[in-house]
Amino acid sequence: MKSNFSVNKEFLLKTAKEILEFNSPTGFCFEIMDKIEAIIKPFGYNFERNNKGCGTITVEGKNNEKTIGMCAHVDTLGAMVRSITPSGNLKFTILGGPILPTLDSEYCTIRTREGKLYSGTFLSTSPAAHVFEDSKSKPRDEKNMEVRIDEIVNCKEDVEKLGIGVGDFIFIDPKTTITESGFIKSRFIDDKGSVAAIIALLEMMHRENLKPKNTVKIIISTYEEVGHGSASIPSDISEMIAVDMGCIGDDLSCTEYDVSICAKDSSGPYDYNMTTELINLAKENNLSYAVDIYPMYGSDVSAALRAGNDIRGALIGPGVHASHGMERTHVNALENTIKLLSAYLI
Ligand SMILES: [Zn+2]
Repeated sequence: MKSNFSVNKEFLLKTAKEILEFNSPTGFCFEIMDKIEAIIKPFGYNFERNNKGCGTITVEGKNNEKTIGMCAHVDTLGAMVRSITPSGNLKFTILGGPILPTLDSEYCTIRTREGKLYSGTFLSTSPAAHVFEDSKSKPRDEKNMEVRIDEIVNCKEDVEKLGIGVGDFIFIDPKTTITESGFIKSRFIDDKGSVAAIIALLEMMHRENLKPKNTVKIIISTYEEVGHGSASIPSDISEMIAVDMGCIGDDLSCTEYDVSICAKDSSGPYDYNMTTELINLAKENNLSYAVDIYPMYGSDVSAALRAGNDIRGALIGPGVHASHGMERTHVNALENTIKLLSAYLI
């Protein structure tokens, strides 16, 4: 069926900016979940949380015999304090899989258990060109990088006095920028771009008073970046669409303007019939789309299937350039994603 509903672009971009700017590394998502609950509250949909903190939004359908699941993850990459060096810097461990060389010289915020925030910078342990012969060639990895804290600290004890300790979260500056030309630049468009798209879809369904064919349960997951995001899903879900970033590069055909439909990723092929239906809907609605194979990828649907859920699953999402580095997409990719989802659901 053709969908000709209108996306509120202004709301979409405002929501994207708001959530992209908000720190939510995997394992620290309760604050952003509160924020999402507050953003969708005016639309009147039921919002529930499971024990590990994933949110589920329920949209009643014309037919409530069948429940379709949809999921997007709000957790991002990040880092955590591993130890404090004798000179008062922080060794860190990564959360998820950032491209570490891209973190060199990035600003960050350290959050103590008590909730105090301190700014800092990720740097190589040979950070000065005038001093270290290997400043340009030293590997940028956990072993050879540290966080420099913006406080007067000369030793480990000075850092401890600030309240900073092992296990504190380090938020990587998301550097969110939306350009006049419609590009959305931020570190973690994966997968907050999709979360913003889903919220804009809810806004559209609410504004246009649209009821989906079947009841829809939207899971806003956390812990996806460490592999178990939507491992546990409501038992009435029989088919689920993961809405996650589309890959760009090498021999893949997706661009930053497309909704990407994934036929297969590292976890195997997605459901044939669902994928076919999504491709047909993209064609019928003249959407800018791509069908691709993602060589190094797993989704919330993969997590749900691996955990033993008996569901059919598909994966779509906005094309995102330079994933797990300095990411970018275009508002057109988000709009195409929203239109494909609405065509599928409504
Ligand atoms: Zn993702």
